[in-house]
Amino acid sequence: MTAISKERKQLVYFIESSECFDNIAKPRLILTALGVKPGCYCALKITPKNLDDKFHFEAHLKRAGLFFKHSPAKSFEEISEIRGNAVMWSLKGAWYGYDIFNSRDLMNKFRKYADLSMKNKHAEADRLAGLIYGYPACCIKQYVRDHKNNEFKLTYDALKKAQDLDKKFPFVSNNACSLKCRKTSALNKKYETALKTYAKHFYRQYSAPLAVKTDLIVEGINALDKGNEYALLSVSKINGHHMILSYISREKYEQGAVLGGIATIKYDYADIKIKKVKKMLEGLHHIRKLPLLGKK
Ligand SMILES: [Zn+2]
Repeated sequence: MTAISKERKQLVYFIESSECFDNIAKPRLILTALGVKPGCYCALKITPKNLDDKFHFEAHLKRAGLFFKHSPAKSFEEISEIRGNAVMWSLKGAWYGYDIFNSRDLMNKFRKYADLSMKNKHAEADRLAGLIYGYPACCIKQYVRDHKNNEFKLTYDALKKAQDLDKKFPFVSNNACSLKCRKTSALNKKYETALKTYAKHFYRQYSAPLAVKTDLIVEGINALDKGNEYALLSVSKINGHHMILSYISREKYEQGAVLGGIATIKYDYADIKIKKVKKMLEGLHHIRKLPLLGKK
């Protein structure tokens, strides 16, 4: 890796310490800031606690010589409380989607990619996206082939494979062509080394497992060919939040079942172990409190 400028180091420090990025956004953003990854997409969340962060982030990006654009603001909610069978949501703030690039040329390529995507020219678009995000050639090839053959079906095996890949290669954001992909393995190692060297604080937090014993409420069920994909709601807070976690299993659980288990968060995924079904919650429902205009 070439020497990292002072401005880029300051940007990395901002990303590490800011509250506006989650663990999906942080690694790809830091790697792009270090110039190890050509470009990335990420979400920036603004709440009343960090109103200035958007301004600061963009000032850092400009000083570091990065190119970017962002989407219009959209609001987001979070679960504030679980009271019996009621899940209470409240409006938390606004989020923006950022596309960030290491050169103007990459930003122009991204415009071309968006245009090709809109015209349903998937093969050309996917190849360009792979280049913009720094994906290995073998994985891009496989992805283009799967896209052409429409092989993105949500099957048990496909989801299981996606989870296994994510666990094996937690630092990359590409769909690796296989668990044995050498290019992805080398890239994963390279990214890990860069984070360990230039973003120690984040690296330690990201790679340390956090195991939380919690009840998990079956909130949603997506039927697969064998088994189901469940959306599980953590009754205990994990890193300060009630989380909705994806869990695939061949076991059958009903909507509203309360499962006793352990959720272990590591990198950007949760490993879930279910111990037993504790009880059933009748009439599980969501309550959304949106502040109305003109009301106090
Ligand atoms: Zn590959």
